[in-house]
Amino acid sequence: MPLSANNPDRTSWLHVDKNSDFPIQNIPFGVFLTRNDIITIGTRIGDTAIDLGALHQLGYFEGIPLTDDIFLQDTLNDFIADGRKTWRAVRNRIAQVFDAENDLLRNNTKHKEAILFRLDEIEMQLPVQIGDYTDFYSSIEHATNVGTMFRDPENALLPNWLHIPVGYHGRSSSIIPSGIPVHRPQGQTMPHGAKTPVFGPSKLVDFELEMAFITTDANDLGEPIPIEEAEEYIFGLVLLNDWSARDIQKWEYVPLGPFLAKSFASSISPWIVTLDALEPYRVNSPKPIKPQLDYLQYKGKKSYDIHLEVSIQPKGAKENVVSKSNFKYMYWNMAQQLAHHTVNGCPVNSGDMMGSGTISGPTENSYGSMLELTWKGEKPLKMKDGSERKFINDYDTVIMRGHCEKDGTRIGFGEVSSKLLPIYNKK
Ligand code: MN
Repeated sequence: MPLSANNPDRTSWLHVDKNSDFPIQNIPFGVFLTRNDIITIGTRIGDTAIDLGALHQLGYFEGIPLTDDIFLQDTLNDFIADGRKTWRAVRNRIAQVFDAENDLLRNNTKHKEAILFRLDEIEMQLPVQIGDYTDFYSSIEHATNVGTMFRDPENALLPNWLHIPVGYHGRSSSIIPSGIPVHRPQGQTMPHGAKTPVFGPSKLVDFELEMAFITTDANDLGEPIPIEEAEEYIFGLVLLNDWSARDIQKWEYVPLGPFLAKSFASSISPWIVTLDALEPYRVNSPKPIKPQLDYLQYKGKKSYDIHLEVSIQPKGAKENVVSKSNFKYMYWNMAQQLAHHTVNGCPVNSGDMMGSGTISGPTENSYGSMLELTWKGEKPLKMKDGSERKFINDYDTVIMRGHCEKDGTRIGFGEVSSKLLPIYNKK
């Protein structure tokens, strides 16, 4: 099925600002609460939210095999499970309905009242019920920086790193949408020079600049997904701030890896941008440094040129951009991650989420965590209000943004923005 929704020449009868992340070529999917307190699946063009449940009820998806209630749900899981053919047909139809040349809905005030919402009339929810969350560790710059800081600059990468897309199973119960604040976690740490651990608030709360992909039902128990099919099972991507407590992490992570240092919160952007929408922005992945096993070898462009940016906004002050990175720096791409994840026969379901790992670039201002940007706190960052940051302070808001741009068309993710609050106190 052609991707007619991606036609770069199409304009919409809905207003779209020139620098919007959401032109008619994007058509992302999300879940929101409307002004009437109804939860629905929707999309967005410019600053207009579109209720797909209402659009479907009013007949605008006629001819596409969809169940009556497919969009009248509080998660996208069932729609995602319908598969790529359906996602494409729906995006193509939405593009048609909102095309500047199409008057059908444009001239129907009654229908528009039921379908269209201003952004201040809706509240974005978590787009999927995430059954399982896996986080990879796929940026060579990040793995090298962390290995250099904590182990040995000469052997920064562990022997497996160039052969395996390293990952761990995370916790999905604490994945939250943009806008929900996060409490500073408490836990065990081993202070420098101490002989016994102490309990208290983490002193080193950090962000991790990541992206994550959302999958559809992909395989049966025991069945690996071949790498050349892997992208068929990827619905789309979101921005991910994988909050981390570095002092807790340092004490707990050997021998089984991250645990409470990561599971207190992971924030995601609410609109899932489809892999189909990102098609024009494919680029080559970095060349493998060492030969990779057959099941990880791929052909063609499997990375995406997505500009990423992180800001810190102190309480009552201006935003400070602290990092500019790019998704294309990932050494291991999504197809490799999914092929590796399933090579042992582990099933992947609709709504599963796979984090990329911190996305650091090659330069000091492109690192994807405060740990790296301030080099363990040795080089604090100056904020515009005169304060300094080694890690994240209480009441700081961390904002991540991402977009692609080529030949005048910009496809973006909006933002994931979350404020760090002091430790939780039961009132
Ligand atoms: Mn992470």
